[in-house]
Amino acid sequence: MKLLLHACCAPCALSVIDIARKDGYENITGFFDNPNIPPGNEYARRADETKKIIDTICVPYDAARYFTAVHNYDDPSKRCPECWRFRLESAARYAAEHGFDAFTTTLLSSPYQDHAKLREIGEDLCKGTACRALTFYYRDFRVDFRRAHDEARRRGIYCQNYCGCVFSLVEREERRRGRGTAGRAPTKVV
Ligand code: SF4
Repeated sequence: MKLLLHACCAPCALSVIDIARKDGYENITGFFDNPNIPPGNEYARRADETKKIIDTICVPYDAARYFTAVHNYDDPSKRCPECWRFRLESAARYAAEHGFDAFTTTLLSSPYQDHAKLREIGEDLCKGTACRALTFYYRDFRVDFRRAHDEARRRGIYCQNYCGCVFSLVEREERRRGRGTAGRAPTKVV
């Protein structure tokens, strides 16, 4: 079976791949479409590291897509679902148009994201006319999160310490200043 894996970083891709193969997805392609991550070093670095883990299609960066899809900048409880949805929508569309059986996302491997909401979005996207033949491959990949990140560190793979957007970067810095030590983001920190 062919699986399109929406991937936003290499360590989380490692969390998904082994489990997906055991579930019968012998053909897995990465899909790096994350305009939430600003251009320059961070975007390129995450994309390049993901390519080391899995053959990956990289969608050209376009900041306008993020700022068109996301409106509630000050409220992560609203901002993040908007951010997840447009990226998963892009993955679902690509998967449906290119003969994949299913799609999923590395976001399901993060203990810092809203797992139930991600599942709801993924399954909802498969109800759309264009994606009816597609399955959202849901799994709780968080079970492999720690092992995958340990492996990433051992292999010298970049493990970022903030979710991705400029807002998450600011929030991380605020936490650091507030606590006087490296803080932990409420969303995705590895
Ligand atoms: S914190 Fe993460 S999920 Fe939320 S808007 Fe920023 S990049 Fe997207």
